[in-house]
Amino acid sequence: MSKFHVRRDQMERFLRGESSQQENREIIRHLLAECELCQETVREAASRQGFKVTAEAEAPVVRIAG
Ligand SMILES: [Zn+2]
Repeated sequence: MSKFHVRRDQMERFLRGESSQQENREIIRHLLAECELCQETVREAASRQGFKVTAEAEAPVVRIAG
């Protein structure tokens, strides 16, 4: 497992669509690696911004990564 972890501020930029393509790729790859710590971070960041992370909401993320 990589030592890279998604920081809260990175995650918030990612959710707002403000992160670079490179950042997006790293974040998505990491989440797809099923890092529980960062999946928790994305849920927290999403709920703070009024997003609801559901199976449906995650589907586009999986498509981008594919
Ligand atoms: Zn992580």
